[in-house]
Amino acid sequence: MRRSKQNYRCSFCGKDKSEALILIAGVEGHICEVCVEQAVDIIEEELYGNKKQQHTHEKEASAPKADFQLPDNLTPMGIKKHLDQYVIGQDEAKKTLSVAVYNHYKRLGQPASADDIEIEKSNLLFVGETGTGKTLMAKTIAKFLNVPFAIVDATVFTEAGYVGEDVESILSRLLQVCDFNVAAAERGIVYIDEIDKIARKSDNPSITRDVSGEGVQQGMLKMLEGTEVNVPPQGGRKHPEQKLVKVNTQNILFICGGAFDGIEKHIARRMNTHVIGYKSDDASNNVIDRDNLIKYVNHMDLKRFGLIPELVGRLPVAAYLEPLDFETLRRILTEPRNALLKQYTKLFALEGIKLSFTQEAIDYIAKKALEFRLGARGLRSICEAMMKDAMFELPSDRNIKEFKVTEAYAAEKFERSKFGMLKAA
Ligand code: ADP
Repeated sequence: MRRSKQNYRCSFCGKDKSEALILIAGVEGHICEVCVEQAVDIIEEELYGNKKQQHTHEKEASAPKADFQLPDNLTPMGIKKHLDQYVIGQDEAKKTLSVAVYNHYKRLGQPASADDIEIEKSNLLFVGETGTGKTLMAKTIAKFLNVPFAIVDATVFTEAGYVGEDVESILSRLLQVCDFNVAAAERGIVYIDEIDKIARKSDNPSITRDVSGEGVQQGMLKMLEGTEVNVPPQGGRKHPEQKLVKVNTQNILFICGGAFDGIEKHIARRMNTHVIGYKSDDASNNVIDRDNLIKYVNHMDLKRFGLIPELVGRLPVAAYLEPLDFETLRRILTEPRNALLKQYTKLFALEGIKLSFTQEAIDYIAKKALEFRLGARGLRSICEAMMKDAMFELPSDRNIKEFKVTEAYAAEKFERSKFGMLKAA
């Protein structure tokens, strides 16, 4: 029952209609899409507890909907607004992802047209250091759209006939997360991590067999483009007696991600040639950020890095993720919907203790993550090292109702941990 959103607010969180993507009207009130999501989580937890996880083979799974349609009024901007709640920074990548996802699912909703114009699908490629939010973005978007989502690691696959998994088992994971509902899987999103690790070793086609690199890339081509694939339901290797499940990949969105360590040298080489060959008169408009060459990555560099041209062609949309700087790390600690510090605060609240962090303590954690070159993943390890004693001791002391983490406390606990004794990189 969706009505006009004019002059309404969410009766649960008070969000104004202009801030909400969707406001659903009830008899006496309204509810926004975020509160609906939260309510669903609560119901699932209450009713099913851990059973849900046993049911799904992947933790990242999200339940499929029988019939998929983009929510009404959803725009690329709306998608980005949602991503903003979970992913800090990475504006360009979020924009690229929002547009690609919007177009992809818009395309799904289209009936076969009479004008013969078929919108082709656009798989995506994320290039960025590890821990910059590539998986987080893919996971967040799948959850938002409520489509099945699976994460697979490209390095476990080898060409057919060799030890390793068949490329088709990429789809086994997707089938497993939606309980083998083929129709749902066929609209899902697959995130293929570490795609850079299956690059061939040189820019030239190999003379010897390259079973885990080029062979796997070849194996992926048809699947990425859209075809019927015979999938072994339990993954692994296909064998003759096995019953295979047919999955059409035409509408599955593939997002590939990788750090592409060392790609800068290809970019630098290309850009130098470019500058010499086509030097612009107005050099001031073309200042190159030499410390961050990876932001200029293009398909030519990916090919030189070792992705075969056919694979590059099937990943037409490439997005670059920025390395996380101090400010972004600081924001990641506190701003996302399920920010790390919010999680600790909640954990302590369950014990009846009001936990808080001073600004200086937050700065200290971000500074350490940066010093140790640990990225966002390191924030958690640092916080764990820092909070371990408090989490151990405070639940036994019923008199403590408030606990403030200061910079001095954070520094003392961190330095004394095994972690703090390591030398920063
Ligand atoms: P990768 O780029 O290696 O796929 P992930 O997306 O798995 O990195 O990020 C690891 C963790 O770091 C995530 O679970 C998330 O908590 C945090 N993180 C990384 N980047 C961001 C970001 N831009 N905003 C918020 N959290 C982030």
